[in-house]
Amino acid sequence: MQFDVKNFLLNAKTAYSTQFSVDLGGEDLNGSSLTAPAECVFTAQPTEEGALLSVHIRAQAQGECARCLANVQSSYDFTRAYSIRLRDPDDPDFELPMNENGCLDLRELVVQELIFEIPRVLLCSPDCPGLCPICGRKKAEGCTCQAAEATEPVDARLSILKQLLS
Ligand SMILES: [Zn+2]
Ligand SMILES: [Zn+2]
Repeated sequence: MQFDVKNFLLNAKTAYSTQFSVDLGGEDLNGSSLTAPAECVFTAQPTEEGALLSVHIRAQAQGECARCLANVQSSYDFTRAYSIRLRDPDDPDFELPMNENGCLDLRELVVQELIFEIPRVLLCSPDCPGLCPICGRKKAEGCTCQAAEATEPVDARLSILKQLLS
């Protein structure tokens, strides 16, 4: 799906808006993938210097917790806006995905913004304790090796204290 940015910058007098969905199948986005097509709204508005573009993205994704490997479902609902000037489409460093004819690739824009939005390190909860290095089970579900590990150093320190005190 293409939006002719150059033509819009030169000729548009009124705002433009289009609704579309982007089906990414199982495409990898920082280790997550979408569970349904992303629902998007793209708008463009002429301004004095050029145009104001915006894209609103709603998506459901799933991935693996980086610590305990549990399945993590997350939803995203965000808007990005870009203020562009007349000469921007000719700038090789222009941040938006454009083709050689000055058209913006809306699908590529959505992919780019999703990759920016979806965390690189996904966690099931901010304080996920991860997996036990001894038995390989989720620490959050409790395992006995964890308890033994935690008490030993404390006991050692206490016994030194006891020695010092006596
Ligand atoms: Zn986790
Ligand atoms: Zn364990």
